Amino acid sequence: MISKDARSLLDYLKALLNDVRIKPDIPTDMIDDEDFLCLDKTIKSVREAALELGKGNLSYSIEGKGYVLGSLKALQSSLRNLTWKTKAIAAGDFSQSVHFLGDFSDSFNSMTKQLAVSIQEIKEAQEHFEMVFNTIPDATIITNFEDGSLVAYNQAFIETTKFSVAELNQNPVTIIDLYLNIEERKMLLEKLKKDGYIENAEISFLGRSGEILTGLISSRLIFMKEVPHILSVIRDITELKEIEKKLQKSEELHRLLADNAADVIWTMNLDGKFSYISPSVKKLRGFSVEEVLAQSQEEVLCPGSLIHLQQGLERAIHSVQNNQPFQVFRGELEQPCKDGSTVWTEATVSGIYSEDGRFIGMLGVTRDISERKIMEEEILRLSITDKLTQSYNRLKLDETLEQQFERAKTEAIPFSIIILDIDHFKLVNDTYGHQVGDRVLIELVAALTENVRSDDIVGRWGGEEFLIILPETNLSDGLHVAEKLRDVVETYRFTTAGQVTISLGVSAYRDDLTPESIVSRADAALYQAKENGRNRVEFLE
Ligand code: GH3
Ligand code: MG
Ligand code: MG
Repeated sequence: MISKDARSLLDYLKALLNDVRIKPDIPTDMIDDEDFLCLDKTIKSVREAALELGKGNLSYSIEGKGYVLGSLKALQSSLRNLTWKTKAIAAGDFSQSVHFLGDFSDSFNSMTKQLAVSIQEIKEAQEHFEMVFNTIPDATIITNFEDGSLVAYNQAFIETTKFSVAELNQNPVTIIDLYLNIEERKMLLEKLKKDGYIENAEISFLGRSGEILTGLISSRLIFMKEVPHILSVIRDITELKEIEKKLQKSEELHRLLADNAADVIWTMNLDGKFSYISPSVKKLRGFSVEEVLAQSQEEVLCPGSLIHLQQGLERAIHSVQNNQPFQVFRGELEQPCKDGSTVWTEATVSGIYSEDGRFIGMLGVTRDISERKIMEEEILRLSITDKLTQSYNRLKLDETLEQQFERAKTEAIPFSIIILDIDHFKLVNDTYGHQVGDRVLIELVAALTENVRSDDIVGRWGGEEFLIILPETNLSDGLHVAEKLRDVVETYRFTTAGQVTISLGVSAYRDDLTPESIVSRADAALYQAKENGRNRVEFLE
C-alpha cells in the first residue's frame, strides 16, 4: 500500500510519459524540491525530443543532459547523417556508405550498392540505345505526337537536314517545320493514330537553308512515360528522285521525238518482232501501229528488200557473235502499203545493248525516200535527155550502143542503127526562121518515136541529125524500118514548114565491126543517100 502523496506523484509521472495531450500539474508538495524539478525537466525534454524525432524533425535542438537525452541526440545525428547520404545517393553519388548503424547500416549499404549497379546498367542501356540510334544510316527522330516537338534525333538527321546540334538544342525544331505540306502531315498523323505505323510514305520537307528535300518516311507510334511519341526513320531520296525525274524526262523526250518524228523509229527484239514502232508508220504505209506490230517480216518488206535486209542483219549479227560491235546496216527497201502500192524507204539499223553490254535488239530509223527516188529518176532522165526535142541525147546513145554491142557479141543477138539527117534544113531555117526549124525538130522526133517500137532508142546525134538504135533487128529489118520512117516523114505536114524530107543511112552489127565503125558505116550510107538525091535510104554493101 502506497501513500496518497506517492500515488499523486506516480499519476503525474504516468501522465507525463504516456499521455501526450495532458500536461499535468506538478504535485504541490514537490514544487520546491530541486531534485524533483530537475528530473521533471529531463523527462519533459525526453518527451519533447521523442515527439519531434517521431515527426521526423531532425533540426530540433535537443536540450539537457543525461543518458537518455544523449542517446536521443546520437540517434538524431545518425538520422541526419543518413538523410544527407541518401540525398547524395539520390544525386547519383554512390561513394557514400554508412559506417555503423547495426542492421540498418547493412541494408542501407547493400541498397546503395544495388542502386549503383542498376543505375550503371541503365546508363549502359541508354548508351547502347544512343549508339544504335546514331548508327542508323537514315535520319531518325523521335517527336512528340501532340505538339510535334523534336525529342531526339540522330547523326544522320543532322547530316540530312544540315541543322547544327547547337541550333537543334538552342531553338528546338518542331517536326511541323520539316513538313512542306501541312495536309500531308495531317494525313500521316491520322494514319498513325489509326494503324500505329506508316510505311515508306513520301514526304517533302525543308532542309536547313530552305531547300526542298524528298524523304521516304516510316513511322511508329511509341509511348514514352505514357505520352504518345512518333519514332520516324526518314530516308533522303532527293537525289534519287532528281535522277528519276531526269530519267523520266529524257525517256519522255525520246518518246516525244519518236512519236512525232516524220521518220519511222522502231525497235526490234532478237526474235525479229517489233517492240516499238512510232505512229508515223501510218503515214508511210497506211497501217496503224497495232497492225504493223502484228505483221510478219514478209508483210513488212517486199520480197527483194526482205532478202536484202536479212543479209545485212545476218552480217551485223555475225559480227556481234564474234564479239565485234553491231555493224550499222543502211539500205534502200521497198515496203508494201495498205492500199496495195509500195513505198521506197531507207532504213538505218543499229544495235541496242543492255547496261552490262549484252546485245539485246535493234533500233531502226525508216525514212520515206519515194520523193528522193523520183528526184533521182528525174536527174537520171535529164542527164540522158536532149533539152530541145526531149529525145535521148548523145550520152544515152553512146551508152546504148555499147550495151547492144556487148549483148550482140556475147548472146549473138543482132541490132541495127539508122542515122538520119533533114534534107535542106538550112532552107527551113532561112525561110521560116530558127524557131520554126526548132519546131520541125520536135515534131520529127515525135513522128519517129511514134513509128518505132518502145524498145527502140531515138536520140539526137547532133544538130538536125538523129540516131535510132533498133535492138534485136538485122540489117534487112533495119532497112524496112528506115524506109517506113522516110515515108512517114515525107507524108507528114510540119507546122509552118509543111513538107520536110529526111535521108537515112542504115548499118547493122557484124562481129568484125566496132561500135564506132558501125556508126561510121551508117554515116557513110547517109552521105551516099544525100549524094543519090536525098529523101532516100542507103546502106553499105
Ligand atoms: P543537107 O540536105 O545537105 O543536109 O542540107 P542542110 O541544109 O540540112 O545542110 P546541113 O546539114 O549542112 O545544115 C544543117 C543546118 O541545120 C545548119 C543549122 O543551122 C541547122 N541546125 C542545126 N541544129 C539546129 C537546131 O537545133 N535548130 C535549128 N532551127 N536549126 C539547126
Ligand atoms: Mg546535117
Ligand atoms: Mg541536113
